[in-house]
Amino acid sequence: MEFINAVLRITMIIFLIRAVITIATGFIMSRRMQKAQRSTELMNEKMLQIKMMEQKRLEESELQKHLVKDDYCGRMIDRTKAFIMHCEGKTCHFCSWECREKYLEETVAI
Ligand SMILES: [Zn+2]
Repeated sequence: MEFINAVLRITMIIFLIRAVITIATGFIMSRRMQKAQRSTELMNEKMLQIKMMEQKRLEESELQKHLVKDDYCGRMIDRTKAFIMHCEGKTCHFCSWECREKYLEETVAI
């Protein structure tokens, strides 16, 4: 009778240990899954940020195609609204008539 009791106890203990292991592995796996999910979410966020930055850069370069630099004050101006003048073998752009005048004054003074 004592022998049967001992066997029963041992099997009970084995079952208990197996149950604990199963629960532990399940817990660890779920934690890992969560971690993996979080990292992919972070990756997605980073990718989105990169995409947005590229989009912004593209838009800026597209905008700069239409912009020219004022040769006097250095401001960026719309190509179609710029005062254009040919000077020293190149095309000069100015944001205003005043800038054009000032540029002319300075270049003449030199
Ligand atoms: Zn200007």
